[in-house]
Amino acid sequence: MGWDFCTDPEFQEKLDWMDAFVSERVEPLDVAFPDPAAPYDRRDPTLRAITQPLKEEVKRRGLWACHLGPELGGPGYGQVKLALMNEILGRSQWAPTIFGCQAPDSGNAEILAAYGTPEQKQRYLEPLLAGDIVSCFAMTEPQGGSDPGGFRCRAFPDGDHWVIEGEKYFASHADLAAFLIVMAVTNPEVPVHRGASMFLVPAETPGLKIIRRAGLGVEPLGSGHHCHLRFENCRIPRDHLLGREGEGFAIAQTRLGGGRIHHAMRTVAMAKKALQMMCERALSRTVQGEPLANKQLVQQMIADSFVQLEQFRLLVLYTAWHIDQGHREQARLYIAASKIQMAEVLHDVVRRAIQLHGALGCSNETPLMRWWLAAPVMGIADGPTEVHKVTVARQLLKRHKGYTGPWPPEFLPLQVEAAYSLLGIDPAKPREN
Ligand SMILES: Cc1cc2nc3c(=O)[nH]c(=O)nc-3n(C[C@H](O)[C@H](O)[C@H](O)COP(=O)(O)OP(=O)(O)OC[C@H]3O[C@@H](n4cnc5c(N)ncnc54)[C@H](O)[C@@H]3O)c2cc1C
Repeated sequence: MGWDFCTDPEFQEKLDWMDAFVSERVEPLDVAFPDPAAPYDRRDPTLRAITQPLKEEVKRRGLWACHLGPELGGPGYGQVKLALMNEILGRSQWAPTIFGCQAPDSGNAEILAAYGTPEQKQRYLEPLLAGDIVSCFAMTEPQGGSDPGGFRCRAFPDGDHWVIEGEKYFASHADLAAFLIVMAVTNPEVPVHRGASMFLVPAETPGLKIIRRAGLGVEPLGSGHHCHLRFENCRIPRDHLLGREGEGFAIAQTRLGGGRIHHAMRTVAMAKKALQMMCERALSRTVQGEPLANKQLVQQMIADSFVQLEQFRLLVLYTAWHIDQGHREQARLYIAASKIQMAEVLHDVVRRAIQLHGALGCSNETPLMRWWLAAPVMGIADGPTEVHKVTVARQLLKRHKGYTGPWPPEFLPLQVEAAYSLLGIDPAKPREN
């Protein structure tokens, strides 16, 4: 019997160390350097000097790049253990960087490892894994993100080069990245799922321009690191194609599945912390001469949050388990289900935590509003909720058959008739007592 909800004691020790390390050494970075892009800035010498010893400590403990297998310098713990780790790391903006598993570099490293040539790995993957550079993943376009059928960015072969023409939108941290992984249409004659390819584009390539940087929420206009890019006669060597021509979507799926579930794991961390804050506030704040915790409406908020969080957490862990077991179809279904749930759970739990904190909750003096903004982001980034609902529904519908005639198999009059016939009962005949 394989069901077990225990964490083995040896691994629990690692989690306990991580928990203390993140609280004592990493969360202070969130406070001192709160810009969400700061963890991606490898050029700032102050940040480098402060973070390098922390990264070294994580490496010494064997906890660096835990999303990767040993062949790539990670411990290869698998997704269930990674989920437990991300339940700690996700509460801090800096922790994923300090532990070498921040998005989108984690996913980009995975596709480079899976599809890169030895030269590509040496030039791009090695410094990425070492944490010396960051990367960008550019797929979304200004006129459409969730429907790849609308992608217009093209790449054409020209002698020893590929030439990229077009635009990309919301390419996170393109301005801080050493290289970009760019999806471009190489064959418009076939459906985009077979006609797009991936390219490695060094940041300094002529013809690649950042035309605007968008921020999130209330960040001042002009700040932020989600870049609108233009490629104009952007020439890259032929060997900068990643994987084979036309394989762009297959490659993207490799990284997006992992990326989505890792976001879900980190969402558990944010919601957990918000629930903790909610409980502490309820016990500490007094209204009408008694703690908030005594009010039944407040108790309801806490109970509802706990139930939602635990359901979500188990869904994420179960998804992680499917991935570890190599159950590809199930993993796809459960990743989509987790993706759907994460925005909703984060929204509901953080909303209640803000409510219980009153004005303080609405202020910029706690992390709550940052997590609040993360809720809609979780429902859009890596594909909107609606698209994942379609995936879930389609997968489930594939597992079922329709029936003919007007009555479903559960139509009771027919079931009674069948049961009587099976049991040899004549309904017209009175039963003997
Ligand atoms: C914080 C953040 C970071 C991001 N980083 C990156 C990045 O680094 N690289 C990158 O390439 N992209 C990135 N994105 C972009 C993201 O992947 C897209 O926003 C997403 O795929 C949706 O595309 P869109 O914004 O064009 O929305 P649209 O495609 O215009 O969709 C808008 C809305 O329409 C509805 N909708 C869409 N499709 C359907 C459907 N089939 N059925 C019903 N309703 C539907 C949904 O409500 C959806 O939210 C990021 C986004 C955010 C918010």
